[in-house]
Amino acid sequence: MKKISVIIPMFNEQEVVDECYKRLNSILKSLEEYDYEMVIINDGSKDNTYNMISKIAQVDKKVKVLSFSRNFGHQAAVTAGLKYSTGDAVLIIDADLQDPPELIPDMLKLWEQGYDVIYGKRKSRAGESPFKLFTAKMFYKTLNSLSNVEIPKDTGDFRLVDKKVVDVINELPEHNKFLRGLFSWVGYKQTPFEYERKRRFAGKTKYPLRKMLKLAGDGIISFSNKPLKLVGCLGLFSIVISMVLLVYALISYFCNLNDLSSGWTSLMIGITFFAGVQLFSLWIMSEYIGRIYDEVKQRPQFIIDKKINIE
Ligand code: UDP
Ligand code: MG
Repeated sequence: MKKISVIIPMFNEQEVVDECYKRLNSILKSLEEYDYEMVIINDGSKDNTYNMISKIAQVDKKVKVLSFSRNFGHQAAVTAGLKYSTGDAVLIIDADLQDPPELIPDMLKLWEQGYDVIYGKRKSRAGESPFKLFTAKMFYKTLNSLSNVEIPKDTGDFRLVDKKVVDVINELPEHNKFLRGLFSWVGYKQTPFEYERKRRFAGKTKYPLRKMLKLAGDGIISFSNKPLKLVGCLGLFSIVISMVLLVYALISYFCNLNDLSSGWTSLMIGITFFAGVQLFSLWIMSEYIGRIYDEVKQRPQFIIDKKINIE
């Protein structure tokens, strides 16, 4: 009998834990031809999430729990889930029920037809602020224009993945994993699965702007070197401008056209402009260096404090 693993990352999700379990459980139970497990990752929740899932896991042995020592972030939580799942196919789903569990049977049909990655593509997104929709759109536009891998837009981490692809992802040693990019990068037979993204069942988003920017940075930097080339272009641009200014100054001097000795304003504009270009270039480079530093330190991506129903 084939087994399906469902990975559910949770960070302060006490308002949705019970409903999430109830809906997933009833769907998974109804799949008679499959065995299943739920791998719930408690990503350092400070509320009652851990107590609630550990109660569920004591009654239902198909519920496996990994509890982190602190909040390591959504991507780290999903990465841990992928490492510990044992199914022939793995489904990644958010706890807040924005991605309806009722779609699982249709996704499984596509898997049975031979697709290795069935990724959820949002036809519509209810209950998300215009700001979030706009930033998400800009992000995918920027990412796809910079990167060599086509990363499908309107796609999150909601997807069904065959075990062989999960094994490849698990082998990748990098730390700041941008999973939806990596899933696209690995190749294999992939297909989108269109669905309507629902409103969050309860509670608030756990992705504040700070975390979104970090994710966007990881996405862009781990999939493109083009920002580094931009630094080179900015350098060339500055040199060209300064050459033009030099020629202008020489002509003015020798032909007595203008008196350039009182150019305080132009001098200040020039200095601040080029200081800006340099600092901006340094910022781009430090984003890369910071991530290289993270990689060399070789610290684990997450620390597991407690496990339930997992040997
Ligand atoms: N999440 C997590 N760690 C975090 C942030 C989020 O495990 O640091 C989980 C969260 O509990 C949810 C999923 O990741 O199951 C997606 O988060 P959320 O729904 O808040 O993001 P949004 O849908 O608003 O982008
Ligand atoms: Mg959500």
